[in-house]
Amino acid sequence: MAEESTNATLSNLATESRSFPPSDEFAAQANATAEWYDRADSDRETFWAEQADRLHWHQKWDKVLEWDAPFAQWFVGGKLNVAYNCVDRHVEDGHGEQVAFHWEGEPGDTRTITYVDLKSEVCKAANALTELGVQTGDRVAIQLPMIPEAVVAMLACARLGAAHSVVFGGFSPGALRSRIEDAEAKLLITSDGQYRRGKPAPMKENTDEAVKDTPSIKHVLVVKRTETEVPWTEGRDVWWHDIVDRQSDEHEAQPFDSEHPLYILYTSGTTGKPKGILHTSGGYLTQAAYTHHVVFDHKPGESVYWCTADIGWVTGHTYIVYGPLANRATSVMYEGTPNTPHEGRHWEIIQKYGVSIYYTAPTLIRTFMKWGKEIPDKFDLSSLKVLGTVGEPINPEAWMWYRENIGHDKCPIVDTWWQTETGAIMIAPLPGVTATKPGSAMRAVPGIAANVVDESGTPVGPGGGGYLVLDKPWPAMLRGIWGDEERYRETYWSRFAEQGYYFAGDGAKYDDDGAVWLLGRVDDVMNVSGHRISTTEVESALVSHPTVAEAAVVGASDPTTGQGIVAFVILRGNVAQDEGKGADAIKALRDHVSKEIGPIAKPRQIMVVDELPKTRSGKIMRRLLRDVAENREVGDVTTLADSSVMDLISEGLKDGGKSED
Ligand code: ATP
Ligand code: MG
Repeated sequence: MAEESTNATLSNLATESRSFPPSDEFAAQANATAEWYDRADSDRETFWAEQADRLHWHQKWDKVLEWDAPFAQWFVGGKLNVAYNCVDRHVEDGHGEQVAFHWEGEPGDTRTITYVDLKSEVCKAANALTELGVQTGDRVAIQLPMIPEAVVAMLACARLGAAHSVVFGGFSPGALRSRIEDAEAKLLITSDGQYRRGKPAPMKENTDEAVKDTPSIKHVLVVKRTETEVPWTEGRDVWWHDIVDRQSDEHEAQPFDSEHPLYILYTSGTTGKPKGILHTSGGYLTQAAYTHHVVFDHKPGESVYWCTADIGWVTGHTYIVYGPLANRATSVMYEGTPNTPHEGRHWEIIQKYGVSIYYTAPTLIRTFMKWGKEIPDKFDLSSLKVLGTVGEPINPEAWMWYRENIGHDKCPIVDTWWQTETGAIMIAPLPGVTATKPGSAMRAVPGIAANVVDESGTPVGPGGGGYLVLDKPWPAMLRGIWGDEERYRETYWSRFAEQGYYFAGDGAKYDDDGAVWLLGRVDDVMNVSGHRISTTEVESALVSHPTVAEAAVVGASDPTTGQGIVAFVILRGNVAQDEGKGADAIKALRDHVSKEIGPIAKPRQIMVVDELPKTRSGKIMRRLLRDVAENREVGDVTTLADSSVMDLISEGLKDGGKSED
């Protein structure tokens, strides 16, 4: 029920009483125990040193942490090679024949890559990059589809100490160009084409457009994937198979400083212009490997792990490449879209490879809900042990659907909160320890400190809502925004400068038991008659109605209440669409929200739509919906996955299809 406190930074409306402890069987075999929290709290630096010891160091560090706020150095004086840690050492330890990747192409072609194969490919690619003039300290841009060469290219850069900047395969030439220019990349690695929804689409044509006027680029290295005819610039362009295949598969990995740059990655641009986030080596790899080990309960040589993210996002970096490989994982890597050639493709892949850990995004789970449970029901999903989510708050209803229909009530679900900036998971349950609640990321993992504070920086305590902050440095934290120290300070460290907190930009609350609930971006918080209401809670209430698959809400200016709640909903596949759009159905939805979380949160308007505006990484862009709701010209849509969506929504609004009292 609505809380009547006016000084709360964010109202705490929704309550959740369901809780799912791990089975005794799961707990008994789990990688981490409850004791880890205390151990980490009592001596954080020793705890992180133990985690760093899971890696191979050419030279041990002198000091765990040097903190000159807001600049951290972790494992100072230590030297390691990230690629050696991800590949060579497993081969040297006798695991060369273990599969590193079961790769599944969209058209159905497959490749099996063992650790020996991976080592040989990475060494050859490192030698090829050297021949093309890439040196330690350089930057290399990569725009590739989800093919093994993407992983090989990243590891070859890491091996040489050249920072990679991976750009999502669907980004336009303009987006690629600005990222190349910002990082002054010397080499671009791309492909002839890429498969998208069953058809080959051009890639090199676009990347050529991007590098027309980028003097920093000396060569373009091109992987053949679709056999598409490509334009060619002699002297600049080189086929991957021409140069890589003829190299020696021997390459000695050199040790680099723990703080040597590993990569630059631009944020997904949900809230505005993307930021070039810089990550370094030792601390990043430590937290990537540690979190992958404890949060997914990964068992090397046993688990079959699948993270469905694209390599172009941080989730692909940390949980397809660095974390899993450092932990000697056997992973599935899938090239295509989830509904090509049919809507059961993911479940078919899980059945085929016996996937035991599956990590995906709430947006996809809601899409699966929309398609219906009959689809996963047709496949054998009994190999699954742990299910994960990342990218957005997961609505309790979607969480329950995931648990029941994919996990068959036996798999712990780990909702993992983190950002491009944090580099690795920060807040998540431990699957063998935590009694999870549907929709909550629960608490910071051992070794990580997070807090929810009000606008003056005071912790809100149980039952309160406010700003999510990180109040102690962590190993995988960003080391800055590439080339823009001022923006780094301003974006993350100015809001709570006095306390020295990192401000994540997200709202969150504690429930009465102290579990953390993410409430969406603070920029999206709605102010209705003096109540600060989070988008997430209202959206979750809408999604808990049996007819709704997805919802996005925004606050639109309102003459009486300050802001009024405007909701956009997508109906589930089995709902008669005409009926679902009718006045009675809309009224039922508004009443449902009122009943679930209180009359204050009752949407002023609800509009049924077929699609929502999402970024390329699948996140809802509420700022665009706010433009529509306030009858403004729609703002910058360059990071939008499908730019026609906004036209459809604006058209629909003009045609009615809304309801208000
Ligand atoms: P930009 O910063 O350019 O707007 P972005 O924030 O979408 O882009 P990412 O770093 O990919 O770029 O996303 C991190 C954000 O995603 C978090 O700040 C948070 O808002 C959201 N998020 C990620 N995981 C979760 C989660 N488990 N629960 C709730 N929100 C999450
Ligand atoms: Mg962000």
